[in-house]
Amino acid sequence: MKYTLDKIADLLNLEDFSEVYSEADRIRKENVGDIVHIRAILEFSNYCRRKCKYCGLNCTNKNIKRYRMSSEEIISAAYEAAENGYKTIVLQSGEDAYYTPKILGEIVKNIKKSGIDITLSTGEMDYDSYAYLKECGADRYLLKHETAEESLYDYLHPCGTLEERIQCLKNIKKLGYETGGGFMIGLPNQTSETLAKDIMLLREIGCDMAGIGTFISHPSTALKDCPQGSTEITKRAVALTRIVMPEINLPATTSLGVIDIKEKNDVFSCGANVIMQKVTPSKYKFLYEIYPSKLSETDVKLQRINLENQIKSLNRIPL
Ligand code: SF4
Repeated sequence: MKYTLDKIADLLNLEDFSEVYSEADRIRKENVGDIVHIRAILEFSNYCRRKCKYCGLNCTNKNIKRYRMSSEEIISAAYEAAENGYKTIVLQSGEDAYYTPKILGEIVKNIKKSGIDITLSTGEMDYDSYAYLKECGADRYLLKHETAEESLYDYLHPCGTLEERIQCLKNIKKLGYETGGGFMIGLPNQTSETLAKDIMLLREIGCDMAGIGTFISHPSTALKDCPQGSTEITKRAVALTRIVMPEINLPATTSLGVIDIKEKNDVFSCGANVIMQKVTPSKYKFLYEIYPSKLSETDVKLQRINLENQIKSLNRIPL
């Protein structure tokens, strides 16, 4: 079947989506198998220079306590993750100029000695900075485009343009990173056509992974009164992305996990093959609030074991 924008938009609105879910699950099994990749995520700074309207970390929010982890703390947390079985660590922060490419590069070089793969998720940079961090050993880069609808993008992001975002993603791809994009479900004025554009943009860029998350409003943001996105549409978007891009890595994103662990299980059965587990030390974790979530104290070892057991109970293979 040829998947056009119109076709994807129509499928998103189907009354009974069960056949599409089955197809997505079949394609997932055929192309990426039964393995579920567990990625550690370390949120090392909640400072951000940007003003994204949906995000609790945006620089206009004066209601949060800001923190930065030192290089030593970041490296030590990454080693702890590696020692507890994680094969990849995602180093994530707001766009925080304190961590220059030089500082980040040294962190990456040190962590690479542990043997763990590194995904960076530190926002927009110029081409040379991305190139330098790749040379230092970063394997993957995650930069969600959030919405492919230009007018919506402009409304949500006073500090940047969709064109700049897409250029960053193209640069990341060109440099040989495994490239991660992604978007949100349930943004104000979003339509099925918008979501179809989001999926097609992932394909146009050639993304190797995509985080598709449900919008959850943060009380200290401009979107505080907007309703939460639909988990059902989120799952549908995950399934259609799997069908359109059979080999892509698709996390069961944390915003779904916030809502209901059972929902997360559903996402595994409709196309997802990755899960993120926070390894951010507890004293910082509760301050990294892009959207409100129920979090427990970090116990790297125990949480890894529990997640492996949950994945096994779904007849999938944790890695
Ligand atoms: S979404 Fe990212 S870039 Fe935007 S304000 Fe939040 S942390 Fe900063």
